[in-house]
Formats: sequence, structure tokens, C-alpha cells
Amino acid sequence: MIGPARVLLAAHTDRAGVVMLTCMATSLLARLALRFDRDRVMSRRELLRDSVAAASAVLLGAGVARGSIGGRSAGRRVVVIGAGFAGLASAYELLSAGHEVMVLEARARVGGRVLTFRDMVPGKIVEGGGELIGANHPAWLGYAKRFGLTMRDVTEEDGEFPIVLGGRMLDTREAEALWEEMEGVLSALNDAARAVDPVRPWESPDAAGLDGRSIGEWIDGRGCGDECRRALHALITADNGVDSQEQSMLANLAMIAAGGFESFWTDSEVYRCAEGNQALAQRLAGAVGAERIRLKAAVARVERGETGVRVLVGEEVIEADEVVLATTPSVWGGIAFDPPLPDALRVQMGRNTKHLTVLSGPVWRERGRGPDSLADGPVQLTWHETDNQESDEERRVVMTSFAGGSATDALRGMERSARERAILDHMERLYPGAGRAALLSRDMDWVGDRLTGGSYSFPGLGQLTSSGRTLATGIERLQFAGEHCCPGFVGYMEGALESGISVARRIGM
Ligand SMILES: Cc1cc2nc3c(=O)[nH]c(=O)nc-3n(C[C@H](O)[C@H](O)[C@H](O)COP(=O)(O)OP(=O)(O)OC[C@H]3O[C@@H](n4cnc5c(N)ncnc54)[C@H](O)[C@@H]3O)c2cc1C
Repeated sequence: MIGPARVLLAAHTDRAGVVMLTCMATSLLARLALRFDRDRVMSRRELLRDSVAAASAVLLGAGVARGSIGGRSAGRRVVVIGAGFAGLASAYELLSAGHEVMVLEARARVGGRVLTFRDMVPGKIVEGGGELIGANHPAWLGYAKRFGLTMRDVTEEDGEFPIVLGGRMLDTREAEALWEEMEGVLSALNDAARAVDPVRPWESPDAAGLDGRSIGEWIDGRGCGDECRRALHALITADNGVDSQEQSMLANLAMIAAGGFESFWTDSEVYRCAEGNQALAQRLAGAVGAERIRLKAAVARVERGETGVRVLVGEEVIEADEVVLATTPSVWGGIAFDPPLPDALRVQMGRNTKHLTVLSGPVWRERGRGPDSLADGPVQLTWHETDNQESDEERRVVMTSFAGGSATDALRGMERSARERAILDHMERLYPGAGRAALLSRDMDWVGDRLTGGSYSFPGLGQLTSSGRTLATGIERLQFAGEHCCPGFVGYMEGALESGISVARRIGM
């Protein structure tokens, strides 16, 4: 999620008849599709825009005036724990529906895993966490419209995409063969996803069988060649933050179905928010009202009784009718729940590396290469973080190096200087001169962050059928919110927003 994490490979024939080989993320696939098949892609995206606009109108609440909430007898008192996208969307929708809300956030800022930097290159925006937005993400686009935020396209850049598998850079012919093989596998995945319910995947035919099987095992069973296998495992691992052998097949299919099958690959990562993603957190927080959001308020205990809940922050007790738990599951262990959360509740958190390097200029262009690359280690993906923010005055750019699952474990296991060296060496290999051009870097260690404890979730084997329903429906007086509660958009900012909206719907809009 991921950055251009859904990497695909494609061979295209340009106007002069030359086969161009490209390894790409979904965002890149979208760019090339536009380049070579503009009419078809644009008309499909227009259709998608209409249906997404309609979906966002249904998803988002009615926006009842805030002034009316105090006097509503039907209003419930709700405490929301966590002011990431999920907690803020639920607070905004609950308030709009006439409930009384108090948001408690442990940090000194709102946004959680959405964190926008403006200090790395003057005048350019860099996302330290959630970055890319889909044309098929109705809640994000609906809120952007409501709060006057704009979308900046992910742009197409000419140039070859380096692909390194098993320590060897593929040549053009090998890359073309790889694409043909991968294309078949991806289209088989789309076909398999057609039988899956994206909202309640646990109710799909053979849900338990698909949930108990990993996508890694499924890939291995396709009889692909060694390079195709390596490429697919690297892509899916980087994308979802856990090794492909630990990812539920059902969860992958639910995500493909929710994203619109082919559109999942071409339209899921096509925009960035021009104002920076954190602007949405700030607009939601502004609409909720500073008086209803308490920062530096880490919740230590949640007691649920027959008539209400008690939420403890330090010595203070806040009483309410309902509680919304909108933190990552990794931090649940630091909160005392009475009664305890159900034993069977299990959510697997992914581990991703997002390493941001400021370069003196776009070095990849010197060799006729594009900034996007795929490798099976030590870094799996690279891309241009400051894409479409060109400026004559400022040539500096930021390149993202991204990895997931055990590749991240290996990088995190190194001393900081060794990790830096490994990442720079990788960049230098793909883009000679990158080492000299590197000015400074920032390592986004969300796994080590004690209020996050991972990058984003992805259901492990059996977890969607054992825990998905509880996460989506809640338990007595406790609702769950967060990207981990939305199977169709698990891991995405869209999943966080949709989970917040559906909490409000369950409590009563
Ligand atoms: C490296 C990386 C890259 C990503 N790329 C993309 C992308 O390109 N596109 C995309 O759509 N998504 C992406 N994501 C995922 C996206 O950022 C998340 O899905 C989304 O932001 C999750 O929001 P949330 O509200 O569920 O959780 P969070 O944002 O984690 O919010 C939870 C909040 O709870 C707070 N909290 C924790 N403990 C307590 C406590 N005891 N008391 C009170 N508050 C507490 C935390 O401080 C935090 O603010 C990426 C994530 C990462 C890490």
C-alpha cells in the first residue's frame, strides 16, 4: 500500500515498433495504460469516477450541523481511541449523526500513520507513511471533495525499469518473457477473485479453504519459472508487508474484488493529495473541533459494564456509552481491557521499510532509466517520491526505497549505518551516480514506533474467517476501527476511512 508497491511487469510496443519493457507498480501500469491505450483507460476511469462519486455519497454521512449534538436525546456518548484516519472519520461521522464524541490520542498530533514532511526539500511534499490514493477509493475522494483537497496525478516517466532477480539484472528479452508469464498469473488471480464477497469475504464459497491457504503456496502451485516465482513473491511481499507464504489467499482475493479486478491493478495508486495526506487528518480534526480531541492522552484501561464504559487516561476516568478502538492491533497489549478482548481475535501486522533519500537531482534519467524498479532484495521497490512536483528553482528530488516482510526484518536487523550502506549500494547498482547524489536520508521505522508497531496489517492464514466478522461488527459496547477492519481495502488509508464510517453507521447514523 504501499507506494507503488503493486508492481507488475509489462511489455509494450511503442509507435516505432520497439518493444519497451517495463516493471511497474499499479500506478505505473496506469501510466503506461494511459500512454498506449488512452481512450479505453480514460473512458473506464470516467465510468469509475461516476460510480465512485455515487459510492462516496452513500458512504459518507449526512453532515448534520454540529451545533445540534448536545441537545439530541438519541445521541450516544462515544469515546474514540486514536486519531488516525479511522478514529477521525468515525468521530466526524458520529458527530454529524448527533452523537457526543471525545477523541483520545496518545501522540501530540493527529494523523497516525499519515505523516507529511515539508522539510526534506523546500517546496516539495514527502509522505512518511500512507502515500498513494486510488481512483477506486470512494471515501478518500469523497472527503477530499467535501474538504476542498485536490488530487495530483502520479505521472508517467519514460525510461527502462531495472529488474534485479537472484542478484542479476534482467535484459530486455528476459524481462519480456517474465511479463508474459506474470500476466497469465495475475489474470488467473482476477478470475479467482470474482467468486469472493469483498465486504464479507468470510461468507464467500469455500471461504475457510481459501483463508487457510497462502497466496505464496498458490503461486508456487502455478508451475511458473524461477524468475517469475521470485518476482511475484517479491512484489506481493513488499506490497502487503508480510511474506507471501503468510498471507491469506482469501484476503488477497477480497482486495482484488473490492478494487475492481483489472482496476485494482491500474487504478489503485494513481493520485497523491496535493496538499499532503495529513491535510485530510487536519480537516477532519478541525470539523470535529479541538475541544473534542485530546492529544497526549494515552488510554491505559477500558472497562465495559452493563450500562456503559469507563476509559482511563492516567488517573482520569471518562465515562461513555460506547468505545471505538481505533489503534493498531499491535498496541492492544498495552491497554488493559476488562473484560479482556476475545482470545480468538488475531490480526497480523506487516513490516515495511520506507527509506527516503534526498538526491541532488533525478539521477535515474542520466542512464535513460525510470525511477521505479523491482528486485528480490535487499530493497524490493524504488520510486520517485516527489513525482510531479518539478520546479526550475529546486532540482533536488526524493527517492523512496521500499521493502516488506523478511526483507524488512533483514534491514531492521542491521546497524543504522550498515542499513544506510545497503540501501545506497542497491540504489547505486540500479542508478550509477546515486551514491554521489545522495544528500540525506530519513528512515521511517513504523515497526519500531511504539504507538504503531508495524506498517499495515494483512490477514494471516485463517484470520479472516476467525476474526474478520468480529472486527467488522464489534462486541458489546466496543467497536473496532482501523485499516485492519476493512477487508476490501485492508492496509490502505481507504480501509481506515471506510472502517470509521461503518462504525458510525453501526452505532447509529
Ligand atoms: C510505510 C507505509 C506506507 C504506506 N503507504 C500507503 C499508501 O501508499 N496508500 C495507502 O492508502 N496507505 C498506505 N499506508 C497505510 C496507511 O497509512 C494506513 O492504512 C492508515 O493510515 C491507517 O490509519 P488508522 O487510523 O487505521 O491507524 P493509525 O494511523 O495508526 O492511527 C492509530 C492512532 O492510535 C494512536 N494510539 C495508539 N495507542 C494509543 C493509546 N493507547 N491511546 C490513544 N491513542 C493511541 C496512535 O498514535 C495513532 O495516531 C502506508 C503505511 C505505511 C506505514
